[in-house]
Amino acid sequence: MIVVGIESSCDECSVAVVKDGRSVLSNVIATQIEFHKPYSGVVPEIASRKHVEWIMDVYNRALKEAGISSCDIDVVAATNRPGLMGSLVVGFSFAKGLAMGLEKPLVAVDHIKAHLYAPHLEYDISYPFIGLLLSGGHTVISMVNSFDDFEVMGTTIDDACGEAFDKVAKHFGWGYPGGVVIDRMAEKGCDTAFSFPDSVLKKDKHTYDVSYSGIKTAVVYQLEQFKNPGYESSPENIAASFRKAAIDMVLKRLDRAVNDTGIKRVVLGGGVAANSYLRRVLTEKKHEGWEVFFPSMELCTDNGAMVAAIAYEYAIRGRFDSLESGVSARVPDFKPYSSK
Ligand code: ATP
Ligand code: MG
Ligand code: FE
Repeated sequence: MIVVGIESSCDECSVAVVKDGRSVLSNVIATQIEFHKPYSGVVPEIASRKHVEWIMDVYNRALKEAGISSCDIDVVAATNRPGLMGSLVVGFSFAKGLAMGLEKPLVAVDHIKAHLYAPHLEYDISYPFIGLLLSGGHTVISMVNSFDDFEVMGTTIDDACGEAFDKVAKHFGWGYPGGVVIDRMAEKGCDTAFSFPDSVLKKDKHTYDVSYSGIKTAVVYQLEQFKNPGYESSPENIAASFRKAAIDMVLKRLDRAVNDTGIKRVVLGGGVAANSYLRRVLTEKKHEGWEVFFPSMELCTDNGAMVAAIAYEYAIRGRFDSLESGVSARVPDFKPYSSK
């Protein structure tokens, strides 16, 4: 079964062709980073305009690279939630037009579920597992029972993890995208230079939630207060200490989730899954009997392959969406975790 997957929820315009949910025949990702760089963040208006300009070409390139023609397509899939409204509308409307023209079924894909499905393209992963989604807009720790069945254990109560990286980098004028820049700088810094707080952990010992407002305020407004004696306030030291605090925050919740559930299988997804400190710490967890699955770098950030891959799961079950379905900017209502 050939599925074409279209992703346009934010600033990546991507179309992929995936065979039988596993074999990536093409995964064309056109990133708009250079257009948003001057603003140190994604400008929604620019993002949707670029999607309109690019999507036809990206689609044609994806088919060409895959060596197929449009009549080989069995299913059309596209992200329809959550994300930037104008951006979602472009990719999803394109998908609807394509499905109508080719007379093929449509699958509307949840971007959050797609991010956590990405590692399935590269590994055989059995359920259940603890899913850790860390992206520009979301931070979710969940019990994942199947590709479509999530129980949310914890989320952020303010900024998303990637958003915190982006905001700190923007404040210091370090460059864009913030997560990538901070990760690079942090490799040259000392992460014990500053000890930034984890305010949520102090208040409630049993939560899986995270909060980035405390760390962000500390880094931006009260930097010197958190500096340890004998260290310099160099950008590299700030970056390294911030990265450690931001990632340790989620790692502590992840430890707790693994201990409480006894499930030592962990799957990462989203742009922050590319973070080198996070990958190093979690790779070591195999010594504690954990199985940890990271998407490869290309599949961490937004891409059409993860959309096509999860759509295959719906398609083989005959679960399709109407050409009248719409888009939604908001996170869907995942059910809360209930310990059994
Ligand atoms: P969402 O998936 O929640 O809708 P999004 O699609 O914008 O948001 P992604 O494309 O998954 O998010 O990831 C982008 C985010 O990942 C940005 O916030 C970026 O700074 C962050 N990021 C990318 N690489 C790294 C890295 N090495 N370390 C930390 N953060 C990173
Ligand atoms: Mg992006
Ligand atoms: Fe994303």
